[in-house]
Amino acid sequence: MNGGRISREIPESIDAAIDVVVIGAGACGLVAALRARAAGSEVIVLERDASPSGSTSMSSGFVPAPGTRFQKEIGVTDDTPERFAADILAKSKGKSDAALARLASVSIGPALEWLADAHGLEWIVLDDFLYPGHSRHRMHAVPEKTGVALEARLLSAVEAAEIPVVTEAHVTRLYADGHDRISAVEITRPDGATEVLGCKVLVLACNGFGGNRALVRQHIPEIADGLYYGHEGNTGDALTWGEALGARIRHLSGYQGHGSLAHPHGILISWALMMEGGIQVNSEGLRFSNEHGGYSEQAVNVLAQPGGIAWNIYDARLHDFAQNFPDYREAMTVGAIREAADVSALARVTGLPGAALARTLSEAALYQSGQATDPFGRDFTGKPALAAPYYAVKVTGALFHTQGGLMIDDQARVLRENGSPFANLFAGGGAACGVSGPDVSGYLSGNGLLTAIGFGSVAGASAGSLARLAPPR
Ligand SMILES: Cc1cc2nc3c(=O)[nH]c(=O)nc-3n(C[C@H](O)[C@H](O)[C@H](O)COP(=O)(O)OP(=O)(O)OC[C@H]3O[C@@H](n4cnc5c(N)ncnc54)[C@H](O)[C@@H]3O)c2cc1C
Repeated sequence: MNGGRISREIPESIDAAIDVVVIGAGACGLVAALRARAAGSEVIVLERDASPSGSTSMSSGFVPAPGTRFQKEIGVTDDTPERFAADILAKSKGKSDAALARLASVSIGPALEWLADAHGLEWIVLDDFLYPGHSRHRMHAVPEKTGVALEARLLSAVEAAEIPVVTEAHVTRLYADGHDRISAVEITRPDGATEVLGCKVLVLACNGFGGNRALVRQHIPEIADGLYYGHEGNTGDALTWGEALGARIRHLSGYQGHGSLAHPHGILISWALMMEGGIQVNSEGLRFSNEHGGYSEQAVNVLAQPGGIAWNIYDARLHDFAQNFPDYREAMTVGAIREAADVSALARVTGLPGAALARTLSEAALYQSGQATDPFGRDFTGKPALAAPYYAVKVTGALFHTQGGLMIDDQARVLRENGSPFANLFAGGGAACGVSGPDVSGYLSGNGLLTAIGFGSVAGASAGSLARLAPPR
């Protein structure tokens, strides 16, 4: 059963009715629900899976936010929403929507602080390395530093707030009246039974279309043959509903890729390895890009190499550092990480041509010491040169999530193509248009959870206030 249908009829019967319905129980939906409840409305979250997880649980759980008290606690005192918005726009070369970048930058810090104050979420700031394109240390995470823990903490908060999360509730149809006002949603259960739930306000938090191969091929052909490493249930329902309603939709070719997914294990290998001195080579033992451009665009660069694979090459210093990341420890456990005492052993354990590998490593050492300039434009001088013993992991490029979607205003109201807002329809996270613009290279690290939590918070607050003021059903 596909979601994505709109009915213009009045539902024959309504099984139950509630103020605010939120579709999707990832970070966006859970934050929106908490906010809507705090604004004084009854709220329910509908989730198609038996156990909520979403791409949020698959993520590293890193959320960029400027000017928070958590930053100040570690001495970062000069970050601001303006500085953050400038970083977002610089990464997308000015192609992201400036109003959305502003909304994300001003909403995310207060959202994280509110989640801490009202719901006890703890945030730490990662200051051991700077993510590409961020001019300040502003990446926040829950103490476990995983998306699983972030999702679990949000679910606990929702449970404590007594907000029902109805699982195995796949929303397959929206009911809209002649003025495009959403009056109800249809839920399809795993056994095919359907139920209709009336609502005053609807929040779309069901992410993008990464799990829909046909839509990916249509809108992002460059990654259609790459692995999809996001949540399979994100099949583009918000997009399909938006199209049917005549919503303004932008940047469908934008997405978060990643050029460092352990192959064939499918485990994320942190890009910190590259930022701190590692290199990527192809199966010929040659570098092929500036690894500091960003991990998102590197998905395309890696997939363009022979066999669509690359090797991350680094050393013991970086191997020790990487063990701070739970994903990396998992990659070690499953045997994805190779160790070699010297360059010839490295060639043996990777199967890469020894002479080319040795040449690549000596060239990198020259760039590091300033005796030569990297033709790809990377500045190697700030980090130590790679030294034996070496480590390596085979990786591929993947699609993590789509960034295009429904345009929203500063209250997270979904907009029509003519720019006017729908009366009672809100969106956030991957359901809304993101802040990365139309290209894979526009994705600044953290743009995903930024709009999930930032826009989710705005959508929930707006939806909750609107529903409270709306006349009784
Ligand atoms: C491997 C990986 C690592 C990442 N790391 C980071 C990171 O560190 N930082 C960052 O900012 N971003 C990261 N991202 C991106 C980030 O995970 C997403 O941008 C973010 O989780 C989106 O949140 P969301 O709530 O919009 O969607 P999701 O968390 O995907 O939740 C959407 C939910 O909607 C449900 N749903 C869909 N359709 C329906 C329907 N019709 N009816 C009912 N339910 C429905 C889905 O089942 C799902 O549970 C990463 C992504 C991946 C894949």
